[in-house]
Amino acid sequence: MQNDPRSHGLWEMTAPAAPATQTLSGSCEADVVIVGGGYTGLSAALHLAERGTKVVVLEGKEIGFGGSGRNVGLVNAGMWTMPDELPGVLGQLYGDRLLDLLGNAPKLVFELVQKHAIECEINPVGTLHCAIGKSGLEELQARAEQWQRRGAPVTLLGAEETARRVGTAAYAGSLLDMRAGTIQPLAYVRGLAQAAIAAGAKVYTASPVIGAERSGRRWTVKTGKGAVTADWVIVATNAYTVSPWAEVRAELVHLPYFNFATRPLSPELQKKIVPGREGVWDTAEILSSYRYDQRGRLVFGSVGALRGTGAAIHKAWARRALKKLFPEIGDVAFEAEWYGQIGMTVDNLPRFHRLAENVIGFSGYNGRGIAPGTVFGKVLARHVAGEITEKDLPLPVTDPVAQSFRPVREGYYEVGAQLAHLVQARI
Ligand SMILES: Cc1cc2nc3c(=O)[nH]c(=O)nc-3n(C[C@H](O)[C@H](O)[C@H](O)COP(=O)(O)OP(=O)(O)OC[C@H]3O[C@@H](n4cnc5c(N)ncnc54)[C@H](O)[C@@H]3O)c2cc1C
Repeated sequence: MQNDPRSHGLWEMTAPAAPATQTLSGSCEADVVIVGGGYTGLSAALHLAERGTKVVVLEGKEIGFGGSGRNVGLVNAGMWTMPDELPGVLGQLYGDRLLDLLGNAPKLVFELVQKHAIECEINPVGTLHCAIGKSGLEELQARAEQWQRRGAPVTLLGAEETARRVGTAAYAGSLLDMRAGTIQPLAYVRGLAQAAIAAGAKVYTASPVIGAERSGRRWTVKTGKGAVTADWVIVATNAYTVSPWAEVRAELVHLPYFNFATRPLSPELQKKIVPGREGVWDTAEILSSYRYDQRGRLVFGSVGALRGTGAAIHKAWARRALKKLFPEIGDVAFEAEWYGQIGMTVDNLPRFHRLAENVIGFSGYNGRGIAPGTVFGKVLARHVAGEITEKDLPLPVTDPVAQSFRPVREGYYEVGAQLAHLVQARI
């Protein structure tokens, strides 16, 4: 995308084409203008357009340019935070509401894919969160017990069963989550755009918003070549925010994450390595993840940016790490490599902001945004349509709080990941 093979890598090579869109030119009116063409913005657009609301989406670059087109494609349920901790942090009401909403969020993704016949390699066979050592297993035991008390279909698997399912003895156990699965992320977001357009939404690309002004009770949102006047503005720019709502970005620390895609593995290897094709990630602080695409390529990722010295360091590490996990894989060749920036909040929880009257948005998904972005987009649509009030939302309204020493911390993550991968012999 944008002539950069390291921005969207394999997903761009294999996704169906994006729907045809144009740059906004001239002025128009709408009920709602949405800024940002990722899962949040396009799910909101789809659910609003389905209600007959006049909605315009303005995307600065291309559909799925942000996290939505670059991620691993693990459709997860819940957040990083332990289920039992959420009510403590957010209060019982919001804690339970968020857990319920996000626990069921993958279901909404899979339903939308079916309903709109989105071709996105959907594979709802569950995920395996794999334990590194005793402490990793203890974390997963607690997670399993807390989700099970809430009736979630999660199972703690022992080391032997994990080894059988993953094809390596590297883990002390794993948490199988049958709510979850994998998708082709760029194909999914392009499919959401297609569905929104079919429902009546107008989607403009290469149309970065550069300013917004209140005119009476309405907002006029401006791009270089045009303007949209609307009653509501949904800000869905999240970790890839470029002005004018810079405070959304200032609240997030960018954590870089890369992926390498192997050539399709042989049928024999596919029978040994994750034969059930679950999405896999581990409990390590600098975590690794892997999953198959439809052709049997293994997409293998971890923390780091593929730029400068990082490009070679992380690639060498990925080769070593794969071989260490699965010796039979040998010296792998990669067909694609790419990376993106995950937006991390200070407490690993997402945010709902009212940036001004009738200017609202969710952000800060901490690397778990496929299902949350989809479900938060729907919630935004219901709120704007007057079906639910601000008090009924899954998160309280908060003001964005800029994170201190953000550039330093972002540099630390990037350099720290290189150092760790340079010396790392552990998996
Ligand atoms: C490498 C990586 C791996 C990840 N892995 C996973 C995973 O496996 N599972 C999971 O659930 N989540 C994962 N995530 C997180 C997930 O991808 C994001 O949380 C999610 O895509 C956020 O969606 P969004 O629609 O809110 O924002 P985005 O998809 O980032 O979209 C925001 C859009 O706003 C546009 N924009 C910004 N400023 C303007 C402006 N001024 N005018 C117009 N448009 C503008 C941007 O161009 C961008 O397209 C990962 C993220 C990354 C980067």
